[in-house]
Amino acid sequence: MKKIHHFVNGKAFEGDSKKTSDVYDPSIGEVSAKVTLATKQDVDKVVDIAHSAFHSWSSTPALQRARILFKFKELIEKNSDELTKIIVAEHGKVYDDAKGSLTRGLEVVEFACGIPHLLKGEFTENVGRDVDSWSIRQSLGVCAGITPFNFPAMVPMWMFPIAIACGNTFILKPSEKDPSCALMLAKLLTEAGLPDGVFNVVNGDKEAVDALLENKKISAISFVGSTPIAKYIYENAAKNEKRVQALGGAKNHCVVMPDSDLDQAVNGLMGAAYGSAGERCMAQSVAVAVGDIGDKLVQKLSEKVNALKVGPGMDSNSEMGPLVTKEHLEKVKNYVDIGVKEGAKLAVDGRNLKLQGYEKGFYIGGCLFDHVTDQMRIYKEEIFGPVLSVVRVKDFESAVKLVNNHEYGNGVSLFTRDGDSARTFVNKIQVGMVGINIPIPVPMAFHSFGGWKRSLFGDHHMHGMEGVRFYTKLKTVTSRWPSGIRSNPEFTMPTMK
Ligand code: NAD
Repeated sequence: MKKIHHFVNGKAFEGDSKKTSDVYDPSIGEVSAKVTLATKQDVDKVVDIAHSAFHSWSSTPALQRARILFKFKELIEKNSDELTKIIVAEHGKVYDDAKGSLTRGLEVVEFACGIPHLLKGEFTENVGRDVDSWSIRQSLGVCAGITPFNFPAMVPMWMFPIAIACGNTFILKPSEKDPSCALMLAKLLTEAGLPDGVFNVVNGDKEAVDALLENKKISAISFVGSTPIAKYIYENAAKNEKRVQALGGAKNHCVVMPDSDLDQAVNGLMGAAYGSAGERCMAQSVAVAVGDIGDKLVQKLSEKVNALKVGPGMDSNSEMGPLVTKEHLEKVKNYVDIGVKEGAKLAVDGRNLKLQGYEKGFYIGGCLFDHVTDQMRIYKEEIFGPVLSVVRVKDFESAVKLVNNHEYGNGVSLFTRDGDSARTFVNKIQVGMVGINIPIPVPMAFHSFGGWKRSLFGDHHMHGMEGVRFYTKLKTVTSRWPSGIRSNPEFTMPTMK
C-alpha cells in the first residue's frame, strides 16, 4: 500500500507517528494510499525548522524571492498534467475542472511574482518641519495554512505564494482526504530553488491542527474549510495571540429575474450547481425564481439535470465526477431524504444512480428540489453536493431579503437584463462576492477572495492586496536629522502650528 508522509526542510519526512488515515480513489471507491497523521511532537519539530529558516529568507531581497516564484510558475506549467491527474485521482472531479482550478492557483503565483512592487511602502516628506515619515511592510515569521479537501491545489495556493513572497516561512496542513498534490507542489518549490525549511507540508488531523494553533513560534494562521471548524480556528488562534483569517462554508444563491435571458441563467446554474459535484464553496445551491419565472426555470433545469453525464473524472465524457468519500456521499443522500420529508418537491432524484463497472465509486446523480422554503434544513444548511434547491419568491425585494437573511454570505449572483435591478442588488446585498450575469463570481488573483457573515471569520480576505496585508505587518517611521543646536525637551503632544 502506498504511504504518504510529510515534506519538511526540502525532503520527505516520516515523523514518529504511527497514526494513518485512508486516502481513496473515489471513482472506484477503493483505498489508494495511507497518509501519516502527524503528532504534536512532529509538528513542533517542523515549526522549529521553519522558524530557523525565517531569518535568512526574510532578509533575502524581494526581487530574489520573486525570481524563485517565476521558476516555480514555469515548473507548475511544465507539470500541470501530472498535478491535475493527482487532483482527479484523490478528489474525483473531472480533469478539465481540476486543470482549471490549478490554473486559478497558478494565477496567484503570477501575482506574487510582482512582490517587489507590491511591498513598496508610502513616504511623506516634511510631515513636520524637517521631519519625514514613511511606512514599510515587514514579514511576520512562520505562517501556517490549514486547507479543505475540495481544492487541493488552488486553496493552498491562495495562501503560500503570497506568504513566502512576503518573506515568511510556511507550514501547510492539507486535507487528509487528498494530500498528494501539496507534496508535489512542495517538491516543485524545492526544484525552483526555494531554500530548505521555507515551505513545509505536514499531514494530519485535529492533533496536528491543535499543535499549530498552540505553538508560540507561529505568527499567523490561514484557514479554509467548514464554518464550525473555521470558528474554532478563529477563536483558538486569537486566544494564542496569532493573526488569523478563517474562511468557512456557504449557501450561495442565484437570483433569476423574470426579465433575464433564461437560457443563459440555466446554463450558468448548471455549471455552478453541479460542476465539481457541488463540492465548491462558490457552488450555487439555491436558485431564487422571481415572479412568474419558476415553472419555466424548473422545466429547463430538469431537462438538463436529467441529461447530466456522471462518470469518472478521467473520462473526457464526464461532466460530473463522484463525491470525495463514501461518508460524504451518505451525508448528501441523507440531505435529499430530509428534503423529501420536509415537503420539498424532488423534481430530479439522482440518489439511485449506478454506473456499470464503477459500482463501488462514490457517485450520485444531480438532484433538483422545487418549492423549497427558508424554513427547511435543505435551505438553511450547506449540503456540499450536487443538490440544487429552487425557492420561489414574488418580487426582487423578497429575493434580496431572502439572501440577506441567510447566515452565510460567500457568493451570490443575479441574472437580469435591467441595470437598475443590478445596481440596487450590488448595493444592498450582504454577501462578499457578487456576480451580475456571472454564475460563479470568483475574484481573480489580483483582487481578493472572501465572504461575509459566517462565511469568514477575521478581517482579511485571501490573495490580492488583502493577502499582502495579511502576511505583513506595518511599520511607520518618523525621522528627523537635526544638525547643530539640540532642541529642548518637549512635554506636550507635538502638533502642527
Ligand atoms: P473541514 O472543515 O472538514 O476541514 C478543513 C480542514 O480542517 C482540514 O485540513 C481538516 O483536516 C481540518 N479539520 C477538520 N476537522 C477538524 C477539527 N475538529 N479540528 C481541527 N481541524 C480540523 O472542511 P472540508 O470538508 O475539508 O471542506 C469542505 C468545506 O470547506 C465546506 O464547508 C466548504 O464550503 C468549505 N470551503 C470554503 C471555502 C471558502 O473560501 N470559504 C473554500 C473551499 C471550501
